[in-house]
Amino acid sequence: MNFRLTDAQQKIKKRAAELADREVAPHAAELDREDRVPFETLERMADEGFMGLCVPEKYGGAGADFLSYCLLIEEISRADAGVGATLAVHTSAGTLPILAYGTEEQKSRWVPPLASGSRIGSFALTEPNTGSDAAAIETLAERVDGGYCVSGHKQWVTNGRVAGTMILFARAVGGATEGVTAFIVPMDAEGISFGKHAEKMGVVSATTDDVLLDDVFVPEEDRLGKEGRGLRVALGTLDPGRIGIAAQAVGIAEAAFRYATGYAAERETFGKPIAEHQAIAFKLADMQTKIRAARLLVHEAAWMKDEGMRVTEAGARAKLYASAVAKEVTDDAVQVLGGRGYMKDHPVERHYRDARVTEIYEGTSEIQRLVISRGILREHTESLEAPGGVEETRPVVG
Ligand SMILES: Cc1cc2nc3c(=O)[nH]c(=O)nc-3n(C[C@H](O)[C@H](O)[C@H](O)COP(=O)(O)OP(=O)(O)OC[C@H]3O[C@@H](n4cnc5c(N)ncnc54)[C@H](O)[C@@H]3O)c2cc1C
Repeated sequence: MNFRLTDAQQKIKKRAAELADREVAPHAAELDREDRVPFETLERMADEGFMGLCVPEKYGGAGADFLSYCLLIEEISRADAGVGATLAVHTSAGTLPILAYGTEEQKSRWVPPLASGSRIGSFALTEPNTGSDAAAIETLAERVDGGYCVSGHKQWVTNGRVAGTMILFARAVGGATEGVTAFIVPMDAEGISFGKHAEKMGVVSATTDDVLLDDVFVPEEDRLGKEGRGLRVALGTLDPGRIGIAAQAVGIAEAAFRYATGYAAERETFGKPIAEHQAIAFKLADMQTKIRAARLLVHEAAWMKDEGMRVTEAGARAKLYASAVAKEVTDDAVQVLGGRGYMKDHPVERHYRDARVTEIYEGTSEIQRLVISRGILREHTESLEAPGGVEETRPVVG
């Protein structure tokens, strides 16, 4: 077993950290106050090849592995979790499903502008009446001549307003096969408009918007995967996507931990730095230990993805644990700063707010527990059927 990052991964981590410190972190507080997407930062990330980091070079990406992408998400989220959310949704939810489920024609047409960052990607699954229960989608895609006519209401689409394309999920009706179906839709298609812009607790520099579809024509060639097989696309997208959100959670926790450590070393009470009071010193020890454990889960899951293994449970475990760590560590950081931790003069109150959503989006923690526990039972059943047991991390077949 080797815990060392490869040279290529270390280089990406270093470049990502430099960009995060130099260009992202200095604007984070202001963007959080102003509820603004930093286009200039997204352009800088595009210049660095970060908008298509783990996209193959053939489709205009940088050709890095998924672990490198997680390193990038952690570093950018450490600086500004909203920018991390924009990048994560753009990449893992808005771009990678086209590579995973698209035809060659779809990959060549839609992926290069996403990989270069000239278009931002988005993912529209959630609706007012459908969140965790994705199968209950109400948006309808009616079969018409040459394609589908789509109408419905998509809620809380990250990047919605600034996106160029959207992976859209709707219920196909009127054709040979009915059921949830995925589509690739340009945001300037006739009939698309934007509803409410969400005012959020955290990740404010990522825009979250309702998208309204009124008789939007989607040609047959823009259907992603088979008709009625959209849930496979959605769940297959969320499996690795959750690893990215876990990396985001680690980045948020790391930012809060570093700030709290610096503060604890400086702030004196009762004649010595608070870091020398055992209550604070032990808090820092727990914070660091949890972050490192969470990061290991992220790296394990990302490594499995790069090895072509099934990551359904590994991604859920990484997200479940890392998001809980982010919540606990940012809470501890507020406590280490005392009253200052509650004030907007210091970034830990923002980290505290940003951390919260990592337990909610791309599947709540309850849904992660459902996924993990189902995996446990499946493995148990399989181990009874296979003498000698089965390996926990076996590759996906087919
Ligand atoms: C900032 C933000 C950005 C988002 N961006 C996107 C996006 O880009 N695209 C997109 O499609 N969606 C997006 N979402 C939606 C997000 O994925 C959903 O909010 C999430 O999946 C939960 O769905 P829900 O809010 O409808 O909660 P519900 O499904 O209504 O769940 C409510 C509560 O019940 C629990 N619960 C539900 N079912 C079960 C069960 N079977 N067992 C146990 N507990 C259960 C949940 O865990 C939760 O605690 C975003 C959300 C937020 C907050």
